[in-house]
Amino acid sequence: MVVVMERGADEPQIEAVIERLDAYGFGVHRSTGAEHTVLGAIGVKPDFDVRHIKVLEGVKDVFRISSPYKLASREWHPDRSLVDVDGVTFGGDEIVVMAGPCSVESEEQIEAAAERVARAGAKILRGGAFKPRTSPYAFQGLGEEGLRMMRAAADRYGLKVVTEVMRPRQIPVVAKYAHTLQVGARNMQNFPLLQEIGKTKMPVLLKRGMSATINEWLQSAEYILAEDNPNVILCERGIRTFETATRNTLDLSAIPVVKKQSHLPIIADPSHGVGLRDKVTPMARASVAAGADGLMIETHPNPPEALSDGPQSLYLDEFDDLMEQVRRVAEAVGRTIPTGALAAV
Ligand code: PEP
Ligand code: MN
Repeated sequence: MVVVMERGADEPQIEAVIERLDAYGFGVHRSTGAEHTVLGAIGVKPDFDVRHIKVLEGVKDVFRISSPYKLASREWHPDRSLVDVDGVTFGGDEIVVMAGPCSVESEEQIEAAAERVARAGAKILRGGAFKPRTSPYAFQGLGEEGLRMMRAAADRYGLKVVTEVMRPRQIPVVAKYAHTLQVGARNMQNFPLLQEIGKTKMPVLLKRGMSATINEWLQSAEYILAEDNPNVILCERGIRTFETATRNTLDLSAIPVVKKQSHLPIIADPSHGVGLRDKVTPMARASVAAGADGLMIETHPNPPEALSDGPQSLYLDEFDDLMEQVRRVAEAVGRTIPTGALAAV
């Protein structure tokens, strides 16, 4: 940590800051410049609240040098992590596509979606059975029945399953059917949920909260990693900004930022990121160009009749088209997206 004193800070003020730093267990290195005295506080304390120093008399600014997260950081783990989801690897040269409807609605619906996304080259079937809806009156998902339908459809087409778990007591039932547990944007800072999910050691898709900084997001990942679960995949899904033309603002710059700060794989969800069907494919292309290790795409056999997120769900034909386009972008940036080598069993 670096403490910059105000111009004109007097000796007693400087001494008082040094004393406080010492009391908190930091070694202090003092340098006196022409205008400012700068104090280097030496010691790694990821949980130290820098405001303790910021509020002291004569302090102009305080800068943290080491990140507040450790296990998620590249400082401590320079090599990129690969996360294995039952044979599907995230973080390697291959870009992994997760696709399916927002919610599982019926056997026919999930079956139709699974068949087509597998054929197009997706490796993981998405679909919610426990849905975090803004309104308590909106469709809340089919629960375990939905999970069962999704897993059966996924197995039939050689896909893995990712689905959301909203509260700790749902973990056993979701874990029974899913290969990856999804933590939704609204739960990114539900710390008891993150800890319980960490204990399962299952792969986790951790979505970024809609108002969360990258720093806060990586600290949430730290909760899972701290339970000895290294299998965290991050998902940028759009943040709230002043812009109203799209549902959220897909923060694509988060991808290179996270890749520099963390070793964890990161994917993008342009469906929730823009919230409008016609903008999903361009932003999927951009996500791949920006370095995403995967994509999460909502697609539905009949979007106008979907029980949730129809307007942002691609028609299945549009999904085929998206896959062809992102495959070309992937090649241009030295990655690959496999073609669907699938025959229905
Ligand atoms: C979802 O993936 O269906 C979902 C609810 O996403 P988010 O948590 O990003 O809103
Ligand atoms: Mn959705």
